[in-house]
Amino acid sequence: MRFQLSLRRRGISDRRVLRAMEEVPRDRFVGAADQGYAWRDSALPIACGQTISQPFVVAYMTEQLQLDSRHRVLEIGTGSGYQAAVLAKLVREVLSIERYRTLADTARAQLEQLDLYNVEVMLGDGLNLAPNLGTFDRIIVTAAVEAVPQSLIELLGEGGVLVAPVGPHHGVQTLVRLRKSGGQIEYRDLVDVRFVPALPGIAREL
Ligand code: SAH
Repeated sequence: MRFQLSLRRRGISDRRVLRAMEEVPRDRFVGAADQGYAWRDSALPIACGQTISQPFVVAYMTEQLQLDSRHRVLEIGTGSGYQAAVLAKLVREVLSIERYRTLADTARAQLEQLDLYNVEVMLGDGLNLAPNLGTFDRIIVTAAVEAVPQSLIELLGEGGVLVAPVGPHHGVQTLVRLRKSGGQIEYRDLVDVRFVPALPGIAREL
């Protein structure tokens, strides 16, 4: 109850997004030591030196994607799998890419345990994807990029929307929403955010 209320108070109004946020048990995506903090509105550490995003930011990015239940969505940066789970409640199909094997395996197992079968987690480099993935209606990048990669813009279908934190790797980034329509790319700056950096290649450490 308090969780939903705090999201509403911060300006999240899409009912489907609020419902999905309430349905996904965030405690299942954080470590044993952080169980007591799982429902607070803060980012938390996960394995491999990464973080699970703050619930408000997850809700906000999800709302800004303007999702439809028929959409096919690509996420770059699976991390804990929490954002992927929220997306899976709202759309037809989610493909989420992670560069750490440990995180990809843990997230995949967790999503399966929650009976979310419309989400696939793949080990890979989201900045350098195989060209055979098809196109996506929506793309969400959950690691900071210095610029929106052209390779991702190319994976967006007509009318597609991409949301990404753009800015310096260590510092404040701006959440950017990009829309592809009629061969044109339209950009809009949303809010300031802080994400861990997007790094090239599959991680050599586990
Ligand atoms: N969406 C996640 C939080 C993401 S943290 C959640 O809900 O928990 C950012 C994640 O992006 C980290 O796990 C990091 O390893 C991953 N990442 C960074 N660069 C990447 C890349 N090039 N390809 C795929 N994943 C990447």
